[in-house]
Parts: sequence; C-alpha cells; structure tokens
Amino acid sequence: MDYKQYVTVVENFPKEGIRFKDITTLMENGPVYKQAIEEMADFAADKNIDVVVGPEARGFVVGCPIAVQMGIGFVPVRKAGKLPRAVLEVDYGLEYGKDSLNIHKGSIKPGQRVLITDDLLATGGTIEATIKMVEELGGVVAGIAFMIELSYLNGKDRLKQYEVFSLMTY
Ligand code: IMP
Repeated sequence: MDYKQYVTVVENFPKEGIRFKDITTLMENGPVYKQAIEEMADFAADKNIDVVVGPEARGFVVGCPIAVQMGIGFVPVRKAGKLPRAVLEVDYGLEYGKDSLNIHKGSIKPGQRVLITDDLLATGGTIEATIKMVEELGGVVAGIAFMIELSYLNGKDRLKQYEVFSLMTY
C-alpha cells in the first residue's frame, strides 16, 4: 500500500521552513487507517509485547488502536500537568521546541515487554524521552513503531539498539 498518497504535506507549519506531515487525511480513510494499524501490529506480533506506550497526542492515535488490535493494554505518556496520579518526569528537546513528558508511576511493571508507538520520528527526542521513562519503570523496549520516519533528521541514530519499524520514510 502506498500510504504516502493519504498523508498531506503542509508547508511552513507550525513554523517557517517546516514541511509538516499531516496524517489526519490518512485517518479520515477508514480502510487505509485500519490497514496501517494492522501492519504496525504485525511488526510487533512476534515480540511477546505486554503493553503499548505512546506519547500524546498522535502517539495515542497510533498506539491505542494497535493495543486494541493486539488485545493488550495502552499506557499514555503526556505533557506535564495532565496525568492525575504520581508521575515520573523526563525533559526532552523537540524538532521545534522543548518540553517535559510524564508517565504514571507503576503503569509499567518491571520486566514487561513494551511496544512504543508514535505517528512520526523526527529528531527522536520524544521517543528517547519515552524510552527513558519506560526503562526507568523497569520495562523492556521490545520494539518501536512509527507511521512516518523523517530520515533526513537522523532520529534513528538515537535508536540504534532497538528494533524500529516505520510504514513510510521521507
Ligand atoms: P521528535 O521528538 O523530534 O522525533 O519529534 C517527533 C514528535 O513531533 C512526534 O510526536 C510528532 O507527533 C511531532 N512531529 C514532528 N514533526 C511532525 C510532522 O511533520 N508531522 C506530525 N508530527 C510531527
């Protein structure tokens, strides 16, 4: 399947010079969205995954349906101040900005095998912070799946010791 035809490239969003990959047009197409999720779940199928983890907001759009497809749980990673219980916090740098990410303490049990998901790999900062949180909670990162990898930003260099899958590469 040529998924790229369903992604809209938006020039100069959210800042001058950025070519934003908008997956909402892919999501609008039920059969294409379903096939994309199934293909990502297939990547993880033989990895004995216990739980899926994804950062807000588009990590939910990808991670939640994968978790349901696999019949396992989903753990959200969110921006500071959004999760209601005790959290673990990690600072990170973005392609366009800086922030901190939170995960509920105890949401991943030591030894659990984790699939990390997000819509897009840019510099890898978001996923690096997510990996750090999963590993600090005692989880084992057994795979990382993206819809899109921006190969020209070399985010994959930061993920060398992990198994990484992406549906599309730009
Ligand atoms: P990274 O931390 O630099 O790898 O940036 C990845 C994060 O930024 C992901 O959570 C994406 O949702 C978001 N992001 C960066 N660039 C784009 C884009 O072109 N389209 C959609 N999301 C993007």
